[in-house]
Amino acid sequence: MGIFCFTLSSVSILKRIKYLKFLRIFILISSSIFYILYLIPISTVFQGLTSNDIVAVFQTNGAEAFDYLADNLKIYVFIPLATILAIFICLCIKNVDKYCFVKNQKEAVLFLLASIVFIWFYQTNALTIPIYDAADKIERYYAFYNNLKNREYPKSIEKNTKEGIYVVVIGESQNRDFMSVYKPTEYDTTPFLSSIKSSKNWFFFDNAYSCHVYTIATLTYALTQKNNYNNLDLSESYSIAHMLHEFDTYWLSNQKAVGYYGEQIAEIGLQTKHSTFINKSFVKGDPYDEELLKYLPKESSLVKTTIIFIHLMGNHPNYRKRYPEKFEKYPNTYANSILYNDYIVEQIYNHFASMRNFSALIYFSDHGEDTECACHNPSKFTWEMTKIPFYIYLSDNYIKQHPQKISTLKKHLHTPFTNDLFFETFLGILDITDKRFYAPENDLSNSNYNHTKSDLTTFHGEKSLAEYTTIIP
Ligand SMILES: [Zn+2]
Repeated sequence: MGIFCFTLSSVSILKRIKYLKFLRIFILISSSIFYILYLIPISTVFQGLTSNDIVAVFQTNGAEAFDYLADNLKIYVFIPLATILAIFICLCIKNVDKYCFVKNQKEAVLFLLASIVFIWFYQTNALTIPIYDAADKIERYYAFYNNLKNREYPKSIEKNTKEGIYVVVIGESQNRDFMSVYKPTEYDTTPFLSSIKSSKNWFFFDNAYSCHVYTIATLTYALTQKNNYNNLDLSESYSIAHMLHEFDTYWLSNQKAVGYYGEQIAEIGLQTKHSTFINKSFVKGDPYDEELLKYLPKESSLVKTTIIFIHLMGNHPNYRKRYPEKFEKYPNTYANSILYNDYIVEQIYNHFASMRNFSALIYFSDHGEDTECACHNPSKFTWEMTKIPFYIYLSDNYIKQHPQKISTLKKHLHTPFTNDLFFETFLGILDITDKRFYAPENDLSNSNYNHTKSDLTTFHGEKSLAEYTTIIP
């Protein structure tokens, strides 16, 4: 109402000034778009824009937004919408002078003042709360980003890490229910993983969930001290790269390092000693994950203890764009993208397997995916978006040196876990147990791990895993 009065009165006042026609048109169109944005969702799905939708707009980049629109905006919706919008803009331009029901300028000024008072008093309402909420979330990530850049590395970390090469592969939008290694699927999507599943060196955890459902929300927690269960401030949390600064560290990424949110995760990568980002062009689209293989470090360049993070583009929508033509094996593009991911993991494993010092490979996905909506959109939350693969390879040498850890991991194959606990689980695998940063109850490789479905949550603590009872023991 306030905005409605403001629009009409300001248009009326500005009418007096001949050269401000464009400003009047701008006010008319932008306030109309404001109404359309709110009223369409309210009237169609009985729900307005949520803060998660607004945050998601900041999370995305041009190419991703285009993919999303291409996937979701059907032509029979798009053409009438575009036509209506075009007619509306033409009408605004042509008739802007008529939109002045307030004839006298004094009245217009009074209306304008009234509208400002109205807007001021009702600034916190059902329509603006999501905007404030989104601004708050965005501010939190920004504070995290700035602190990450400026903070000093933690000093004298107590650690007993054995020499070796440790590889962490971070998947993208991967739902484990589509992976044959986890359960029988319509198409065989994981020939490599299925072939090594029964080996004593591989551990497949079948009860892992993501701590939220989109990249920035999950990885800022998985890769820092912050998790759904502690009261730490994200901006005050040390990142995994900070923790490992005394080792030689690599970050290889096929995700864009630009954009509001790309930068947040990239900044963690930039804290490593050698970072490479191959996904740079907005014109060419995303490279296939195999392009990353060229950048895997050679054995001769590795020092005694090296940690290598590999951030894949994985199974992100649009699925067909994630794999080259020769992987078009099944009539289901998501299944093909999983098949391709299996090939990528095989290549990464083979690259390091020949190295004498190779100790471990840990794989987890940032979140799952709902293939019904071809999305992991928080405002359409489903549990499919949280079901992630999580598996670990440990070398014979590592197994020999850690009998206790191995028997604990075996016991925990079906134990519920959320990926924000990756931080401490990885520290555990590296034998870093400095109490300032590490709590054994959050480490799946420690016998003191004490989380169950009743205390584990996703959606940053808003949804309990206990609500999802069909699978979790
Ligand atoms: Zn993601």
